Amino acid sequence: AFDVLVIGGGPAGAAAAVYAARKGIRTGVAAERFGGQVLDTMAIENFISVPYTEGPKLAAALEQHVREYDVDVMNLQRATALVPATEPGGLIEVRLAGADGEPGPSLKSRSVVLSTGARWRQMGVPGEDQYRNKGVAYCPHCDGPLFKGKRVAVIGGGNSGVEAAIDLAGIVAHVTLIEFDAKLRADEVLQRKLRSLPNVEVIVSAQTTEVLGDGQKVSGLSYKDRDSGDLNRLELEGVFVQIGLLPNTEWLKGTLELSPRGEIVIDERGQTSVPGVFAAGDATTVPYKQIVIAMGAGSTAALSAFDHLIRSSAP
Ligand code: FAD
Repeated sequence: AFDVLVIGGGPAGAAAAVYAARKGIRTGVAAERFGGQVLDTMAIENFISVPYTEGPKLAAALEQHVREYDVDVMNLQRATALVPATEPGGLIEVRLAGADGEPGPSLKSRSVVLSTGARWRQMGVPGEDQYRNKGVAYCPHCDGPLFKGKRVAVIGGGNSGVEAAIDLAGIVAHVTLIEFDAKLRADEVLQRKLRSLPNVEVIVSAQTTEVLGDGQKVSGLSYKDRDSGDLNRLELEGVFVQIGLLPNTEWLKGTLELSPRGEIVIDERGQTSVPGVFAAGDATTVPYKQIVIAMGAGSTAALSAFDHLIRSSAP
């Protein structure tokens, strides 16, 4: 059995594994895809002290750093169930998916760090995949400055879409916010702020139908006016999709406390509602989903797991 078993191999999981291994305790990492969302990222300019790097390079460095230590790295392993310990200080079980939907092996550990991350909900329209990282973006904190002086659209009029539009309006030339419903769903205070900005236009009852491009990068967006049925076209260089960040926690439903959005509820030490189970990164209720934040949270969760172990082991 492990002392600390980390589920997920993104920035949070890698940090948790390094911190746990440095305590000299038996550490394992099981990840569906080591590197996580970082693998899908191109330019990264806010990884503090590294002015510029690229996702695949950072993902390789994460794995290399973990492998510097005596960590059992189990890549391409998907967790399907968490079984809490039956007695205080007992072993926690994590079941893995087997081949062809068969139940797979299970791992046992005295503590667990969950860091399964999240995924952006996609529009599912033509051009979105083709122009991902070539004008189609999901993270305004990350990619906003790449669109300095350009025209962009934000898709989604909830809090995250309206916050993104306000944020981007300070950087880019013009923002068009597109909402499917007849009105925005964001908090009133955010909507007021948005409407006070001179370079923002809001279009409601609009269904994005296609991301347009020249083969290399985004050149526009087409949308259907849901009242008239007319197809319209906007000329722009960037599309920020803000229609939801989905935590990878479906497999944990009913086992530990999740927020209404499905995020793992943690306290400031990374403790979940199940003893001995900690969590970190985009899968949790942590505010702001970013690489450096996930790494800090992963470190916190590993240190909390270590603290749990020294308090629960027999003297
Ligand atoms: P993730 O990176 O999502 O990693 C989750 C890990 O868990 C993966 O290894 C995954 O395979 C694994 N996993 C999931 N489910 C299971 C399961 N059931 N069993 C086993 N393993 C599982 N942030 C920045 O700070 N700067 C940027 O420039 C930036 N750009 C971004 C660009 C894009 C396109 C995207 C999508 C995100 C970007 N982000 C950026 C956000 C950043 O990538 C995330 O905040 C960060 O990766 C979160 O780390 P994490 O470890 O919590 O989760």
